[in-house]
Amino acid sequence: MKIRLIGPQEDVSPRQVGPLRDGQGRTVSYLRLSVTDRCDLRCTYCMPERMSFLPKSDILSFEELLRLVDGFIARGITKLRITGGEPLVRRDVMLLLEQLSHRLGTTSLREVSLTTNATRLEHHAEELKRFGIERINVSLDTLSPETFAQLTRKDQFTAVMRGIERAREAGLRIKINTVALRGVNEHEIAEIVAWAHGQGFDMSLIETMPLGEEMSGRSGQYLSLQTVRARLAERWSLEPITFSTGGPSRYVRIAETGGRLGFISPLSHNFCDTCNRVRVTCTGMLYTCLGHEGGVDLRDALRAGTGQDAFDAALDRALIAKPARHDFSEAGLDQPATRRTMSVTGG
Ligand code: SAM
Ligand code: SF4
Repeated sequence: MKIRLIGPQEDVSPRQVGPLRDGQGRTVSYLRLSVTDRCDLRCTYCMPERMSFLPKSDILSFEELLRLVDGFIARGITKLRITGGEPLVRRDVMLLLEQLSHRLGTTSLREVSLTTNATRLEHHAEELKRFGIERINVSLDTLSPETFAQLTRKDQFTAVMRGIERAREAGLRIKINTVALRGVNEHEIAEIVAWAHGQGFDMSLIETMPLGEEMSGRSGQYLSLQTVRARLAERWSLEPITFSTGGPSRYVRIAETGGRLGFISPLSHNFCDTCNRVRVTCTGMLYTCLGHEGGVDLRDALRAGTGQDAFDAALDRALIAKPARHDFSEAGLDQPATRRTMSVTGG
């Protein structure tokens, strides 16, 4: 495999042409990069059982992904999250992560993290830690093997739990992300919180968002986090805290567990004013908002060999048009906001 190697001692020296600012005056310093749209699970709220995936020839090579990341670092990105689809199913993805880790400390990139479903985490946890990846997000919506099998349409619960355990042993900081789903896991949310905090993990709850044209009819699954929070408050003392990861989560500390719990409520509470992120798909489409169709194709700028100027121009074009906010609403749950699913945009 041909990828440009950058060792920890080598200076990448990105050209500084100024930070990324959007048309609303927000500074964008966080890139979520999807390295594949493929996944080994089929979570019912995320993708259809017979999902059609993108042709492999459309997917950016590691070399292109690295050039893309360097282009973003040159424009002030300090935080990078690798996601998918399931990032750990991309072949040789650890080679890419190793190369990205060399940008830590040699460029202005300060953090590389990963979002994963953990099915393959047990094989990679130690290496991730060795590469300087400190924190990972693990998506887990249930502690019941039966519910897991129904919800993800795959029988991988035991592998996921082994992966989480291995990551904990390796010293990775873990945040559990759980989508709150009416009639599916709503009865066990407190149990998941107690388990996560008992393991020393942070946790965030997420409202299901209407994404994906084949995924209509979300109103049956939607559970407002205002309802969840009120239920948890009957059992525990939830103390609002100012802790922030720069993202949309509003955190409380639960006095009884001592752990942090975040609420990501795109439908019941809009959080776009402080949005600092953009997303790039594995084919190089830059989306400045999870909930809007509009995107700019960076692959052309990467493949045409027109250099950083064309890349910068494409970034600026996209950033100027970054919407002020998404338009998710409880009333619009049955009408997908975007044709693409979250697994394509990169969650
Ligand atoms: N496969 C990896 C995983 O599941 O962690 C990374 C990609 S996945 C698309 C990222 C996150 O998006 C997961 O936490 C998943 O629960 C969430 N997600 C997917 N579809 C969603 C939807 N329609 N609404 C809310 N969250 C969604
Ligand atoms: Fe796969 Fe993540 Fe989507 Fe589940 S949420 S189907 S694990 S991409």
